[in-house]
Amino acid sequence: MKFIPITKPELPDFKKIEKKYKHILFSKMLTNSKYVRGLEDKIKLFLGVKYAVAVSSCTSGLILTLKALGLKGEVIVPSFTFSATGHALIWCGLKPRFVDVELNSCNISPSEVEKAITQDTSAIFATHTWGNSCDIERLSRIAEKHNLRLIFDAAQAFGSRYKDKYIGSFGDAEIFSLSPTKVITSGEGGIVATNNKKLAEMIRAGRNYGVGAGGDKDYDYDCVMIGLNARMSEFHAALGIENLKLVKSNIKKRKKFVDIYKEELGGIRGISFQDVSASAEPNYVYFSIIIDPEKFGITRDTLYEILKKKNIETKKYYFPPLHRQKEYERLFPELKKLHLPNTEYLACNALTLPLYTDLTEKDIERICRIIKEGK
Ligand SMILES: *Cc1c(COP(=O)(O)O)cnc(C)c1O
Repeated sequence: MKFIPITKPELPDFKKIEKKYKHILFSKMLTNSKYVRGLEDKIKLFLGVKYAVAVSSCTSGLILTLKALGLKGEVIVPSFTFSATGHALIWCGLKPRFVDVELNSCNISPSEVEKAITQDTSAIFATHTWGNSCDIERLSRIAEKHNLRLIFDAAQAFGSRYKDKYIGSFGDAEIFSLSPTKVITSGEGGIVATNNKKLAEMIRAGRNYGVGAGGDKDYDYDCVMIGLNARMSEFHAALGIENLKLVKSNIKKRKKFVDIYKEELGGIRGISFQDVSASAEPNYVYFSIIIDPEKFGITRDTLYEILKKKNIETKKYYFPPLHRQKEYERLFPELKKLHLPNTEYLACNALTLPLYTDLTEKDIERICRIIKEGK
């Protein structure tokens, strides 16, 4: 039985990358040089944002952004997100204030955000879940009204759009991941996208320990912030540049596959999908189904096991949600009493199915057949 993984990166032909890698080796400039700047320029133009700063990962980009903004106290964040969102807050000494997501969009609920604001709140930190953009307009209005920073964990959302604009220029900053499970990869890497010049300069310094102009100009070793080594290597940047050329066709192929999934599974009692608002155009990075165990007849976990036995990999994104993770409960014992009904429901009932460009229609039909028979 053919193994179908949950994801596979789309990569350029070796020929396309070979020349660039040779050039890097001969130039002896291995990090934070010509290709990194090239990738930043190309991404900036693609997204239509003023500044794009390449970093070693989305996680380091999140940490540097929170740090560079000088946030204090509490930050409002979804619990239904990937661990790195919450971890970044904790690395910066910030307290996560977890709020619920909407059941239909699987994104942070603006009305829950508004209810959670206190004297100690300094920012809203929202994730574009599975590449489907948040209600950016409402979140922006709330942030403005209460004088809060608004940062988006856009790790999954490269190429996603909102109101006819690419994700990347909303809020104070949007941070992308270029790791292999996302729509565009540089092997490992991240991009901090912002229209704020001062913030971009701080991130440039911050990725290089906090040293002055980020390594581009004469060093000033009196650091402007407590930075990291979060530089991107030239090899990663070169791969990112080639992969950027594939993004649009990649998203098109993914959309076609998602349409087939929806067609095959749409009529089944007990299966539903994430809602996409009229303002949003996702990049289809992941495709998840939400199982109502009573109507469907079996639980998400049973379906996961059935698919696994048939050599099909799926993921329980995101189980456990952050407020139910042991380390979070140890750090913040009051979380044991926190109930986020929609988050807990999705964490127990959502299942992410295989999706990548060299999946075939036959593969999808096989996956859907097993789901229907499993019922
Ligand atoms: C993948 C992901 C990250 C982490 O990205 P890295 O580049 O691996 O650090 C962070 N947040 C979300 C929502 C993600 O999906």
